[in-house]
Amino acid sequence: MKTDLNKRVMNRSLDKLAPEKKAPTSTYIILLVSYIIADIVVSVTANAKGSISLAGMSISIYAFAGVFSSVANICVILMTIFCGKKGYITSMIVLLVQLPIILMGVIGQHNLNSLPGVFGNILAVIAITAVFLYNQKVNRAHNEIRRQAVTDTLTGLPNMYATFRLIGDLLKSEIPFVNVTININGFKSLNETMGYNAGNTLLIEAAKRLRALCESGDTGTVDFITHLSSDEFALIIRDFKSEDEALNTIKMYDAALNEKFTIDDCDLYMTASFGYVCCPSEADSVDNACAYATAAMREVKRHNSSNHILHFTPDLLKESHTLEIEGKIRAALENDTIFFNLQPQFSISHELRGFEALARMKDADGSFISPGEFIPVAEKVGLVDKVDGAVFRKAAIFLGDLMKRTELDIMLSVNVSVRHLMKNDFIEEVRDVLRDSGIPPKNLEIEITESIMIESVDRALLCIHELENMGVKIAIDDFGTGYSSLSYLHRFPANLLKIDKSFIDDMNSSKSSKEYVAAIISIGHIMGFDVISEGVEEDDQLDTLREIGCDFIQGYIWGKPLMPDAAEELVMKCSEQKNA
Ligand code: C2E
Ligand code: MG
Ligand code: MG
Repeated sequence: MKTDLNKRVMNRSLDKLAPEKKAPTSTYIILLVSYIIADIVVSVTANAKGSISLAGMSISIYAFAGVFSSVANICVILMTIFCGKKGYITSMIVLLVQLPIILMGVIGQHNLNSLPGVFGNILAVIAITAVFLYNQKVNRAHNEIRRQAVTDTLTGLPNMYATFRLIGDLLKSEIPFVNVTININGFKSLNETMGYNAGNTLLIEAAKRLRALCESGDTGTVDFITHLSSDEFALIIRDFKSEDEALNTIKMYDAALNEKFTIDDCDLYMTASFGYVCCPSEADSVDNACAYATAAMREVKRHNSSNHILHFTPDLLKESHTLEIEGKIRAALENDTIFFNLQPQFSISHELRGFEALARMKDADGSFISPGEFIPVAEKVGLVDKVDGAVFRKAAIFLGDLMKRTELDIMLSVNVSVRHLMKNDFIEEVRDVLRDSGIPPKNLEIEITESIMIESVDRALLCIHELENMGVKIAIDDFGTGYSSLSYLHRFPANLLKIDKSFIDDMNSSKSSKEYVAAIISIGHIMGFDVISEGVEEDDQLDTLREIGCDFIQGYIWGKPLMPDAAEELVMKCSEQKNA
């Protein structure tokens, strides 16, 4: 029973995906009514005597019979063109019913006036038959094209477009279904070792098996199988009572693919990875339904475990999101589209100290991807030194030029990840950038986050001492978040402590936070560091920081991160004020 149902589901779904466009019933009714009216006018006027006066001319009433007879013929031809078989059959019936009546007039009543009507009727029968036969031929070709648009040419299965449409329809009708992404394991190496023809044969064979199982109805569920691309298939399962039943269906497809394949006289055993998601409960859009099933399938592939089937869970998205961001970072580095903003830093008396360069990256749609999102990924996948390097060089060249033009003594602070700092050629890179930009070493500040400093203190220290010898300044970023001990701080040849925004946020709402900030400032001063507070947004935060002796301020209250041209404007204004 399910056999027929599954076959029908496949075919009906395909027909639905590429529906044939037919004229609405109203067109049929209008043409039929017009035909009947025209025919009545013909029979009334055919034997009428006399004439009517129209625009000063006398026209015989009989002449109208010819005009309306043509109108009637046009109606039946249009009906055949626009209303398909129904239009053709209706036209044929009315013409054939009419023919003996006209013939009776000619033969029985010797009324030769009706003779043109006989010929007209016969010609109309020939015309509508010719039109109908031609239409049939054109429709057959159109149907084939429509089918091809939703069918994959290699495997004959519905294609990716058909999959998306079907998932969209099911979601719209709120019918529960399971979307499964199937990927054949080791397909790439099969292609490489046995050639593309063998690869194609395997895909065709796999598609045949999947389709056969789908149409057999043996799974007990209503299934729809499609070919997405290369070695990827989709399975949509409906009509299951429980998730276990759907899982059982997936296992049957897995088993079907596990059986031996013989290609070019070689026996091959194939496995596939299955990822699935239950819709609409776990994914409520076409994109999500596909992405989530694919994320689960990729996870199976990554672990290469003996269990080939995995249900989607939201934590899988983190991994696929990382991959997505990694791709974007790689593209941005390749196209050199990583850019920088400059956030001003001020003394507590509101004099410009300098700028912190902050990395910026845009998505394909022009929206910003936050560094809080892409910097950790760049760190994880080993690209952060390239990102840091691009921002460092571009910001230094820009600010170096501005410093030359204005002769202002301002700082450029750059964020450097530990991976970058540990690179053998880091010191060489700093020297190159200083030379190319013309920034004096004392005007460059390298920011290292406190937590990273603690993790790698011994190795980092070697490099930091070298920077110190060159005259480059060191800032300890996000201070207060890394639990560094005073002994670490003491060993660190830093110049600036940057108090993390989280302490500044809490400063005025909690007495202990204010005391903590005051203590950091005191300790910093005792150790010979300057102290800057990050993320200052409000006047009372500023007042408190002034009161407890903070040296510098970086925050939206006096300056958000700026695009280079806005930073240039600010520098020019400071230079004019200085020279005034
Ligand atoms: P960070 O180095 O602590 O930079 C300060 C962050 O605080 C910046 O966020 C800045 O826009 C934000 N900020 C400053 N003042 C305010 C304020 O008043 N209110 C608020 N709400 N935010 C403020 P951004 O640009 O999103 O950078 C986030 C983090 O990304 C940076 O923290 C830094 O750790 C990292 N980062 C940025 N650029 C680079 C880079 O070129 N290389 C490396 N390794 N890390 C970078
Ligand atoms: Mg920073
Ligand atoms: Mg910070």
